[in-house]
Amino acid sequence: MKCPLCEKGILKKVDDILMEIEGYTFVVKGDRCDSCGGEFPLGEESQRVIKIARKLGIWPEPMKLYRHLSKSGGSLVLRIPADLEKQLKLSEETHVEITKVGKKLVIEPT
Ligand SMILES: [Zn+2]
Repeated sequence: MKCPLCEKGILKKVDDILMEIEGYTFVVKGDRCDSCGGEFPLGEESQRVIKIARKLGIWPEPMKLYRHLSKSGGSLVLRIPADLEKQLKLSEETHVEITKVGKKLVIEPT
């Protein structure tokens, strides 16, 4: 199947699409474009996630933030927006777990 976004890539079946809702991350099945990386979760999978999210009382408010990385002391630094910091009660003492899922990074406070 051709990608409806870029119309160049081919959609490949994947099972590691991340849907993030209010700090919860759901891994769902769907298609991913091999050219632009566009992701298309299966309709039934999205419905399943929405149902779970409603049960947890975290629907709606899917959150996607765009941030630049900056350099500090030779390492890349990701700045956490203040509202997320408050919501997730983060501080400089917070330990985080970084998981690589495909081309994505999932950062979870532990
Ligand atoms: Zn594409």
